[in-house]
Amino acid sequence: MLDPYGRTISYLRVSVTDRCDFRCVYCMAEDMTFLPKSEILTLEELDRLCTAFVRLGVRKLRLTGGEPLVRRNVMTLIRALGRHLESGALEELTLTTNGSQLAKHAADLAAIGVKRVNVSVDSLDETKFRAITRWGKLPQVLEGIAAARRAGLAVKINTVALKGVNDDEFDRLVTWCGAEGHDLTFIEVMPMGDIGDDRLEQYLPLSLVRARLAERWTLSEIDYRTGGPARYVRVAETGGRIGFITPLTHNFCESCNRVRLTCTGQLYMCLGQDDDADLRAPLRASESDSLLEDTIREAIARKPKGHDFVIDRRHKAPAVARHMSVTGG
Ligand code: SAM
Ligand code: SF4
Repeated sequence: MLDPYGRTISYLRVSVTDRCDFRCVYCMAEDMTFLPKSEILTLEELDRLCTAFVRLGVRKLRLTGGEPLVRRNVMTLIRALGRHLESGALEELTLTTNGSQLAKHAADLAAIGVKRVNVSVDSLDETKFRAITRWGKLPQVLEGIAAARRAGLAVKINTVALKGVNDDEFDRLVTWCGAEGHDLTFIEVMPMGDIGDDRLEQYLPLSLVRARLAERWTLSEIDYRTGGPARYVRVAETGGRIGFITPLTHNFCESCNRVRLTCTGQLYMCLGQDDDADLRAPLRASESDSLLEDTIREAIARKPKGHDFVIDRRHKAPAVARHMSVTGG
């Protein structure tokens, strides 16, 4: 699939649920209302949609959410999608998780052919972790990460940089990830959805984070890519890698290879734009997938050039109304 700007679309991110067992301050309001279950695609429908994308050329599939591992029987879907790894149609099946349920599922994920997972850890301080996630328990997440490693999964830690909240912990995170052998990726907070807090208060440009890290660590640019938007450096002292996802300070849209599917079957061609295509209607309209495939192709043909995220004094409102948990990270 080629978009109007000549970019090959080979990466699909699927939010399998908008629900979550955490309420991270930058992601959700504490009193979030979730979609009624009746609107959510069944696991079979999600499998059919993902399979159509694989047929059309998607080589990498990431399940996300909300929290993907809180969706009931989600392992049935993951196991079913594993057949595309076996056939070689899919290069990678992976997920982004908050880690709370990872201890339970790590061994099964590895057996299915998942090779690596992204786990979000914004703080290594139990009290602070609780404050950021509102409902999360750090020991449970660390146990999930340990189980993933025991099962042979590579782990990448995602940390959202939050001004005045976790910016005193970045060195500690670099040390910990280096010692444990996890990659670490910092993410700039994005203006998505109303969260009842002032984004400007949270926003910390990663250019600053990187400059501060460079005072303590020897960082050298490396060519490593994972198919995602992060740019990586190597930390000489730990041998570890650090990635920077900088939607605001450095726009990476020119190399975007991704589209995102919500759990109700809306396809977003860009995380930072409102245009979407409804795939649920064509999916349900017929047992054949030809209408669905046509709709997907039409949607890709109008993928926008990029997002317009800005956070400054004049731009405090969300750039898009939906929360990150709708389209997933
Ligand atoms: N629940 C899973 C998790 O937390 O990893 C998967 C979904 S979560 C929406 C995916 C990623 O998006 C997480 O790393 C999270 O920290 C990040 N995220 C959520 N809201 C964000 C925002 N407004 N700006 C930047 N990153 C955000
Ligand atoms: Fe849940 Fe992930 Fe959003 Fe946190 S970032 S509230 S864990 S979906």
